[in-house]
This record gives sequence, structure tokens and C-alpha cells, in this order.
Amino acid sequence: MRLGPRETHHVRVHPFSPGQVVALRYITRADATVGMTWPARVVEDSDDLLALWIPAGAEYRAWHTPPGEPRRLVPATWRRETLRLMFPGRAHSIWCTWEGPERTFRLFYVNLEEPFRRTPIGFDTNDHTLDVIAWPNLRWEWKDLEDFEALVRSGVFTPPFAAAVRAEAESVIADIEARRGVFASAWPAWRPPPHWTIPALPAGWNEVPPVPWERRDWAYRPAAAH
Ligand SMILES: [Mg+2]
Repeated sequence: MRLGPRETHHVRVHPFSPGQVVALRYITRADATVGMTWPARVVEDSDDLLALWIPAGAEYRAWHTPPGEPRRLVPATWRRETLRLMFPGRAHSIWCTWEGPERTFRLFYVNLEEPFRRTPIGFDTNDHTLDVIAWPNLRWEWKDLEDFEALVRSGVFTPPFAAAVRAEAESVIADIEARRGVFASAWPAWRPPPHWTIPALPAGWNEVPPVPWERRDWAYRPAAAH
């Protein structure tokens, strides 16, 4: 029996092609609906890497809370060219960012997040609040550690989940300190093909049903009542 290149006994994956525009969506913790969403061009969609390019100037959707009203998604402009390196089944992504007319590599941003899921128009994930920044010289620092710990204290993040997020972060920090993987790669010198234009959100970005993380009930609890 001949299997297609990406076909297994139970899953057939249709990878996106380089240059294709997709929607990267954060699916909300509280009610599993579509939250912050970015347009991106696919750089690579292979078995062990998903690379997405979100250039400066891309119009995405960000939360905005008018006084006295519930938050809502509004158009916003992405300010810093970002290449999001995402790893199937892993609970983090590593972002390369550049800035200025010279397109200077700025830093690696390690974003702890849900392992991504495929949708017909792109990919769904959600942020886990904790981040690690690694500078070009590979000195690193925590980001938003206090916000993360507040979510653990308040019970929104369950203890086993919080431990798993910390362990995931520590595994990436080990890679930074050993200068291996992405941190020893040529990705900081990557450039988009010159004909690539700024992507726009694909139709249906807020209508295609979200694909929630299958471990969300293990990871998240409603905010504790006071
Ligand atoms: Mg984050």
C-alpha cells in the first residue's frame, strides 16, 4: 500500500505551502473562542517545524476593553517583524525578531504556549503568560514571571500544569545555555523572499470553529471566586 508523504494510519496532514497566508489564532482559556489572531505567511510546514512570518505592518486583531464594556477584538498593527518557529507537540515557540531599516536581529523570544493545532485556515494555540528572552549574545532572562505566578496562586493555572510550563521553559533555557538548536542556527539571518507582501487575515478567521487544546481542562480552572 502506498501512503502519501504525510499520511499515517490514522492522520492525514495537509501541510501548507511556503508563502501561503494563514491565520494564527489564540483560543481563549475561559470559553474556547477565537481571541487574538494574526495573519502570517508560511515559511515551512514540515514534520518537525512550523515557521510563520508576521511582518511589521501586518494588521492583526488585539483585545481592547472600552471603559465599562466587555473586551472586544479590534484591528491593530504589528510593529516588529517576527518569525515564529513552532514545534509540533511542544508547548513553546521561539520567535526571531528584527527591527529598523537595516533589519537588525533583535532577540529570541521564547513564548510558552499550547501545542498548536491545525485548522482549515491555519493554526490555533494560546499563550501561557510565561516567556523567556534570549539576547543575541544568548544571555537570557525571564519575562512575565510574576504574572505567571499570580495565575498559579489564584488557581487559574493548576499546579501540575504550572509545573509542566516551568519544565518546558527550563528545557529551552538548557538549549540556550548549551547554545544548541535554534540558538545555534542560521534563523537570525533568515530573510523573506523579496516578493512576499504583508499578509492580510484570511476570510473566516473568526468563523472557522476553534480547535481547543485537548488538555485545557487539566491546565485551566475558572478564576477563583472571592
Ligand atoms: Mg507569552
